[in-house]
Amino acid sequence: DYFADSIKKAIRTVPDWPKPGVSFRDITTVLQDRTAFRKLVDAFVHRYHDQKIDAIAAIDARGFIIGSPLAYELNAGLVLVRKKGKLPFDTLVEDYELEYGTASVELHKDAFRPGDKVVLVDDLIATGGTMLAASRLIRQIGAEIVEVSAMIDLPDLGGSRKLRDEGLSVYTVCEFE
Ligand code: 5GP
Repeated sequence: DYFADSIKKAIRTVPDWPKPGVSFRDITTVLQDRTAFRKLVDAFVHRYHDQKIDAIAAIDARGFIIGSPLAYELNAGLVLVRKKGKLPFDTLVEDYELEYGTASVELHKDAFRPGDKVVLVDDLIATGGTMLAASRLIRQIGAEIVEVSAMIDLPDLGGSRKLRDEGLSVYTVCEFE
């Protein structure tokens, strides 16, 4: 579609990073291209501008980059879902499995009001573990997730399917095999 092709072309694939066999999808080349960056933000704005969205929840750290201009443009609040140990006030923590070991995401307890309509944003969905853990935190506080969205889906890893199985609506701008 109009947004997907040009944004996908601007993503750089770095072979064997951060380790051999991994192809890293590098979004810095989208951000530094003024046309691609604008189209990226516009893709998300276009998706949500006619809905009542109270807040954008953005995942540490590349989710912040997309979430910030989206929240501004939608006249919504911006909530940071952070890696563990970064938030100063009372928090909820959710642990999740990685290929090796575990990771945690954290959210301020007063980040949302009950019933707030929230869009959760990150740069990429791989196994879906990060998005799922963040979704659980948001739901624990009593907010309503309108959709989880990302710039890139890696459908072969099954993350977006897992998220849909959990009853979440999922939007991604483009996909890589
Ligand atoms: P998941 O939890 O879905 O397995 O992994 C998604 C998380 O890992 C996201 O927060 C994303 O930033 C990061 N990630 C994993 N692989 C890549 C990649 O190839 N490119 C980018 N930009 N982020 C990745």
